[in-house]
Amino acid sequence: MRSMAGRIPEDVIERVRSQNDIVDVIGQYVHLKKTGRNYFGLCPFHSEKSPSFAVHPDKQLFRCYGCGESGNVFSFVMKVEGLEFPEAVYNLAQRVGIDIPREESTPENEKARKRKESMLAAHDLVAKLYHHLLLNTDYGAQARNYLLNRQMQLATIEEFGLGYSPDSWDFITQRLAKRGFSLSLMEEAGLLSQKDRNSRPFDRFRGRVMFPIHNSQGQVVAFGARTLGDDQPKYLNSPETPLFNKSHLLFNLHRARTQIRKQQEAVLFEGYVDVISAWQVGVHNGIASLGTSLTEQQARIIRRNTETVILCYDSDQAGIEAAFKGADLLVAAGCTVKVAQMPQGMDPDDYIQQYGGERFKQEILLNAASLTAYRLQVIRSRHTLNDETERMKFVHEALEEISRLPSAVERDHYLRQISEEFHLSLDAMKQEQKKIFKQQKKAGNRDNLKDGWNNSIDSSRSVAEKPMLPAYIKSEQYLLSLMIQSAEIAEQVQMKVGADFAVEDHAALAAHIYRYYSEGYASDPARFISFLQDEKRLVEKASELAMMDVQAHLHAPRTVSDYIEQVVKNAKRMQIEQLEREQRMHERAGNTAEAVRISLELIPLKRSVK
Ligand SMILES: [Zn+2]
Repeated sequence: MRSMAGRIPEDVIERVRSQNDIVDVIGQYVHLKKTGRNYFGLCPFHSEKSPSFAVHPDKQLFRCYGCGESGNVFSFVMKVEGLEFPEAVYNLAQRVGIDIPREESTPENEKARKRKESMLAAHDLVAKLYHHLLLNTDYGAQARNYLLNRQMQLATIEEFGLGYSPDSWDFITQRLAKRGFSLSLMEEAGLLSQKDRNSRPFDRFRGRVMFPIHNSQGQVVAFGARTLGDDQPKYLNSPETPLFNKSHLLFNLHRARTQIRKQQEAVLFEGYVDVISAWQVGVHNGIASLGTSLTEQQARIIRRNTETVILCYDSDQAGIEAAFKGADLLVAAGCTVKVAQMPQGMDPDDYIQQYGGERFKQEILLNAASLTAYRLQVIRSRHTLNDETERMKFVHEALEEISRLPSAVERDHYLRQISEEFHLSLDAMKQEQKKIFKQQKKAGNRDNLKDGWNNSIDSSRSVAEKPMLPAYIKSEQYLLSLMIQSAEIAEQVQMKVGADFAVEDHAALAAHIYRYYSEGYASDPARFISFLQDEKRLVEKASELAMMDVQAHLHAPRTVSDYIEQVVKNAKRMQIEQLEREQRMHERAGNTAEAVRISLELIPLKRSVK
């Protein structure tokens, strides 16, 4: 009956939890900074620019004061990796080398896990085969020459595991069949293709240079493939599969992550060839989206690792548009964006081949413009500036752009630049800019509103101080918070209040707390939260309560009794209201005897709340 009765024994769950320090685990995903006794960082679950995500090492809990996500180390891993509770436990057990036998998971889970495992094993095998063919066989000679001609070094080919898919319909198909892989599963995994459901599967990639794509754990989950000749399409990617979600993965992130964090900067390219080419000349913090434009999820993943991002896209019209779109998403995710500008008609790979890595780093990356400077340049390039009307149009559009800047210092900087260049009065420009700002605000610039809201969140503020909560709800919260932290107080409350909490979730939580202690556990907020397992709403509630600073409101033991009294009185008041409603109903129905009986019942109740 207990929904929290997991298949993994309670003591194992506890061992896993206590060996995985929440600061270490969350620190792998979020850049945390210590402030006082706690750690703060940018929430991985919502977009924000100032940190409102707190990790409490004493309580082994986390909570975001912006979006409300909270819980213990299991809740965090469930949320961030998209796992169910048992999977989160397995995942963290593996991290600290605890072995949990898996035989008791459900048949469906087991089946899905086996299929995924088989897909991963096949990708691993196929990647090795392609790589071997490229380096050591006649099949790969043409591709090998192609790469060497493009100044690709052997070490780079090995580092990235590049390969060659032979121009054959069944080279991979046969080898997979021989190894006992299910061909229909391999079709689902994107390695094979089928004309229709009843036809024979065949090799999806033929006669192409193969670029393995890895997940965040560094496992091959897909391929990018480039043709050697004029076949279309020039680039072909694996389809979406259970392993490969294009909008969530970034090419090379598993390799570049350490450098990105160390340098607190990532370089975002459009294509994987650019990433590899830049890597070869020592740019080890490069990543790319996968044949699609950047997504919101990818922007958030990037923000989890760094604040500053240099966009290094092609200089053609499509590249400029992609850069604008990507920049918007990154800014929304809280990144500071710079734009590296390629000479007309070149992509980063071309540039590096032609001018070399040093010049790429010095002239392209180090010269990356701020996003505003870049936007102003693009706006400028759309106008013929020696024409008076065009020039005024440019100034107006530039002012619109400048008005969006949140910092007065930055606005001033660009206003000065333009006023000097075009010999315009700075004051007049400032006035005009303010006018535009007001119009933008009137038009309901939701982004600005959102930013203001985010920035106004004071990360040290306690959730306990939510204004406007009725006193009895606060009392219930304080009591539950104390109960989570003290078995004695829980016992006291159990005797005097029992299940009489006015808020339904509070009553449910109280019941769990009573049972938790009755099973002999000591008070420990994070452990109690594992006990709730996947009751997500209660987990959040309990974490929120466990992190309330009740001690600040608690000066004498008497206060606990005060809270109890208030909660009990409130329960009685609600009972009185209920009885009075029933009484009126009976009176209206002419059921006098029943109405009188209720009024008698009400007398002692009403006396007791005075
Ligand atoms: Zn949040």
